[in-house]
Amino acid sequence: MDTDLLIGGSFEAGQEPGEPVLNPRSGKLILDLPEASTDQVDRAVAAARAAFAGWSRTTPAERSAALHAIADRIEAEAGGFAALEALNCGKPINAATNDELPAIVDCFRYFAGAVRCQSGTVAGEYLAGHTSMIRRDAVGVIASIAPWNYPLMMMAWKLAPAIGGGNTVVFKPSEQTPLTALKLARVLADVLPEGVVNILPGRGQTVGSYLINHPGVDMISLTGDVATGRKMLDAAAKSVKRTHLELGGKAPVVVFDDADISEVVEGLRAFGYYNAGQDCTAACRIYAGKKVYERLVADLSSAVSSIALGLEDDTANEIGPLISLRQRDRVASFVERAREQSHMEVTAGGEVMGNGGGFFYRPTVIAGARQSDEIVRREVFGPVVSVTPFDDVDQAVDWANDSDYGLASSVWTRDVGRAMATAARLRYGCTWVNTHFMLVNEMPHGGLKQSGYGKDLSAYALEDYTVVRHVMVKHG
Ligand code: NAD
Repeated sequence: MDTDLLIGGSFEAGQEPGEPVLNPRSGKLILDLPEASTDQVDRAVAAARAAFAGWSRTTPAERSAALHAIADRIEAEAGGFAALEALNCGKPINAATNDELPAIVDCFRYFAGAVRCQSGTVAGEYLAGHTSMIRRDAVGVIASIAPWNYPLMMMAWKLAPAIGGGNTVVFKPSEQTPLTALKLARVLADVLPEGVVNILPGRGQTVGSYLINHPGVDMISLTGDVATGRKMLDAAAKSVKRTHLELGGKAPVVVFDDADISEVVEGLRAFGYYNAGQDCTAACRIYAGKKVYERLVADLSSAVSSIALGLEDDTANEIGPLISLRQRDRVASFVERAREQSHMEVTAGGEVMGNGGGFFYRPTVIAGARQSDEIVRREVFGPVVSVTPFDDVDQAVDWANDSDYGLASSVWTRDVGRAMATAARLRYGCTWVNTHFMLVNEMPHGGLKQSGYGKDLSAYALEDYTVVRHVMVKHG
């Protein structure tokens, strides 16, 4: 297993004691991983700064070739990456192999193409005797900080547009899930010039905090919690760094009376519980029309009870455990507080599973939730879905929008006009119609409100990781 940090072109062990890295399926220790010292952060930032002058002047074709080479290497070693991700996150091996790895490879390939096809304002004589042109140039050194729910995928989302845009990066994986980042470090060291990407495992309050406050960093990119996002903004304010923030979510799902309820149930069974609900777009806050509410609760509760998890044969598992005991306790406490309120009913799940020390929690449905309830308002980040009946479209839209978050949403109806009209009123970075959760590398992913404002994926991510510059030439 790769455990060394990547600084410049060299690998070395972390110099400080770090976090134990656990297997969430068993709760057992995988390894104790030393974390980066402040001296190692300093050297990683210096290596990224030194690499910037050369890397930012490479041609798009050269950067594209590097991104293709990274994609090819990940694809060739996909089995190893998937196994390591499954081990470190507890994900079912089939999910890691069939869902995540192909999307990760495609992310690098998408940006390999996109970086060669950027478009912009035409050059011209906007002042007589002077030619103006727009450039899009790299920002500089990016401090890139990732969460634990999709470690390698978040790394791909952050690295591909950043290095594609000509930046250099110091990347910190989550302290809970550093293993695939350290494996990818070997590939990156082979493919990229020294210092273009540096990988430093460590905790947020130590390595992360020192890195984001570093004067040698030009931009901070975070996928994580809203509270962590605020810390990024504090750090950025000191030296006016750019920020790219992808924070939490609490996705509303509006189900109208004319929706195909069996499709809704099938969709929610998948999109509310995928990755054990540890997904910022998870379909977790259902608003159902009065006519379909009872049936939806009954059918969803029964469908959810059949989700396979915690089985010895991992190829049969549909979802895994929570990432940690702490996260499972947190999820369980949300459900307990809901259960204490008499107007709500836990109609499926609502309990931890013993499974030999693993951090499993049964897929849960909470019926009768009201708009003011904690379970409707706060991000649980676990396999828990609430269902709330609504009277009319205005109430559904008001409740859906009444959230601090603004990442993802969906509308379910057979009436295309109603779907379009409702989608237009929802204040979310994405609205799906008659589906949920589907992402493609060509389309942006990112939020409004406290979900942040950075766009991942698509040409918009490349814009976020580059700056617009104006060059004006006086004639004669
Ligand atoms: P987190 O905010 O606790 O940690 C994210 C990363 O930030 C980790 O690498 C952590 O070490 C680091 N960090 C924490 N404190 C820091 C500090 N003071 N300085 C620098 N770095 C620091 O989030 P998490 O628990 O790993 O992930 C779950 C959260 O991420 C959820 O809220 C979820 O909604 C969000 N998320 C959002 C998206 C999105 O696209 N919007 C995607 C995945 C996860």
